[in-house]
Amino acid sequence: MSDPIDRDGLDARFWERKPLTKMTQREWEALCDGCGKCCLNKLEDEESGRVALTRIACRLLDDSTCRCAHYDNRHQFVPDCIVLKPDNLDTHAYWMPETCAYRLLWEGKPLYDWHPLISGNAQSVHEAGVSVQGWTLSEFDIPEDEWEEHIIEEPV
Ligand code: SF4
Ligand code: SF4
Repeated sequence: MSDPIDRDGLDARFWERKPLTKMTQREWEALCDGCGKCCLNKLEDEESGRVALTRIACRLLDDSTCRCAHYDNRHQFVPDCIVLKPDNLDTHAYWMPETCAYRLLWEGKPLYDWHPLISGNAQSVHEAGVSVQGWTLSEFDIPEDEWEEHIIEEPV
């Protein structure tokens, strides 16, 4: 399957030399590994601030491709979907998946070898077992008061 994210022609390992705030829009978008884990619903404990991940996915997530079914106009359906930007990463990094490229770079860590920018293959994130491919439940099917029964450990 071809890569749904346009990563052609970018400078080799640009993320190792450019700060997040200096990246072009294409470079920024290319950082996404396509894992789909940020589209899983989370439960946050108000007192401790601890965030638990569930296998209940946003209504727009297609877990066969791990892509948003209506990315460009998703806010019509999911108004509170986050638009991640360099200047709001500090407020969101704490709940982002541990393997998310944006979180890794924000924390000063390297990307994994399975990242499509390194492997050259969009399937490598799925082959490494770190995506949501094939194992989510839709929020349409599970009432919110049952989400706690579907808490999972992040696949890393
Ligand atoms: S968790 Fe990060 S890398 Fe994975 S799909 Fe979401 S934004 Fe992209
Ligand atoms: S609207 Fe799309 S991008 Fe946003 S959480 Fe849902 S599936 Fe993910």
